[in-house]
Amino acid sequence: MEFDGLRRLVERLIGPHCGLCGASGATEGLCDPCRRDLPMLPAARCPRCALPTPDGAVCGVCLKTPPVHDGVVCPARYDFPVGALIRALKYHGRLAAARPLADLLGRAIRVETPPDLVLPMPVSPSRFAERGYNQVTEIARLLEPRWRDRIDPRVLERTVDAPPQASLPMDKRRRNVRGAFRCSEIVRGKRVAVVDDVMTTGATLDEAARILKRAGAVEVRGWIVARTPRLR
Ligand SMILES: [Zn+2]
Ligand SMILES: [Zn+2]
Repeated sequence: MEFDGLRRLVERLIGPHCGLCGASGATEGLCDPCRRDLPMLPAARCPRCALPTPDGAVCGVCLKTPPVHDGVVCPARYDFPVGALIRALKYHGRLAAARPLADLLGRAIRVETPPDLVLPMPVSPSRFAERGYNQVTEIARLLEPRWRDRIDPRVLERTVDAPPQASLPMDKRRRNVRGAFRCSEIVRGKRVAVVDDVMTTGATLDEAARILKRAGAVEVRGWIVARTPRLR
């Protein structure tokens, strides 16, 4: 408690510290040199799944099996330090890590007309009870003040406590998330963005998109901080 008070006093005097290197004067949770060093995906990437492609064309996998969703914004690779920030936020209660992640994602989202609804990818009820928060909601809330009233964490929900995708081999992931969501009727006729921290196969986003579109959403886009390479 005393340490916290001291830290706040120091922050007030010399500005907030960088969440990675500790340098002072960090504006959005990271200092400028650390932000420049972030592992970004190349600008030329598949608009559907964010994997690097020549000239930013749709990749072969997405041509062959078009995803249900309408495209993703995903600026970073799931590598150090982005992966470490995501894990700190998700597993270690380091809520301050949400700020640099939201800053990273927010800079990549260049939408002229914002979506009608911004929905954090829900975590399962038991994981929510265990952690006390959904790490993605924390990121979504910091994205852009103007969109704050479009964020509603209750619209899209997990129905079941499926095993975490990270614990499963790639070929089991699509089946694992089948039927994992339900959503409210409010999405009918709406353009929706689903926010998430990590994308691997895209199976989770696609299942969420399927449920949202079945309920009448006219567009579902993914806003995702980082992706892993496609391992298959
Ligand atoms: Zn730094
Ligand atoms: Zn693709």
